[in-house]
Amino acid sequence: MRFDLVTIFPEFFVGPLDHGILRRARETGLVEVHIQDLRVFTKDRHRSVDDRPFGGGEGMVFKPEPLFEAAEALLGHSLGSAEQPASPDPHTAIVLMSAAGTLFRQETARRYADFDRIVFLCGRYEGVDERVADHLATEEISVGDYVLSGGELPAMLMIDAVTRLIPGALGNEASSENESFSANRGSPRDASPLGARQAVPVRPDTEFPAARGSGYRGLTNHLLLDFPHYTRPADFRGWKVPEVLIGGNHAEVANWRRAAALEKTGRNRPDLLLR
Ligand code: SAH
Repeated sequence: MRFDLVTIFPEFFVGPLDHGILRRARETGLVEVHIQDLRVFTKDRHRSVDDRPFGGGEGMVFKPEPLFEAAEALLGHSLGSAEQPASPDPHTAIVLMSAAGTLFRQETARRYADFDRIVFLCGRYEGVDERVADHLATEEISVGDYVLSGGELPAMLMIDAVTRLIPGALGNEASSENESFSANRGSPRDASPLGARQAVPVRPDTEFPAARGSGYRGLTNHLLLDFPHYTRPADFRGWKVPEVLIGGNHAEVANWRRAAALEKTGRNRPDLLLR
């Protein structure tokens, strides 16, 4: 997998890419990250990437030319024009980070893990000329219902979520299959008493809106958050680990985890239960 980050702040990514799973994935060649300074594709003396908005109003907007030219230089081919639209490469995603995009979810990350290459376009200021969303980006994605000051953190977040789903990125292959938001799809851990997060039939016939069209059958009734985890000490300042987890009865542990995951989902994310 190759990630390209198009940004006016190339230094931004020094640090976040150099730790843990991402660092190891880069070192082992599982992912390659290329950072592209957008200002290289400006032509004026001030190297300006932005301009005032047509129609008036506050703030500045990223111009289309530098972004199109940056993407064309990275991909090595023309991305077309109104007269000659380019046909998109099915193995490459061009993602515009945008608070007005579709919401990034775990199943989006899963879908993206199958691409060969992802180009992230990071906006700033008031945002990006709409022709970038319409004719350059293959998708416009938001990481949540809040407005950030730039697309760099959102792109970083996507890179993290996607990388850990690439086979080999996690030490333990099974460990990305039994997490919050993951469909429990018959992984080896299902059989083990400790892989306790099994299907809780919330509304078996209900399709979660998020799952629609994603190609993920089986996702529909398993969208639970992770169960609570505990480690030593068993008594920390008087706050005790639930007795059942210490007892060693695997079936009881499994039951407790199932119930606790359901309880926590209801408490923190009732929307996931659709009730
Ligand atoms: N005027 C815009 C916000 C611009 S914020 C609006 O109201 O929608 C500047 C840049 O930050 C955006 O171009 C985008 O690249 C990035 N950004 C801000 N919030 C984001 C979010 N929730 N998800 C993804 N990118 C975001």
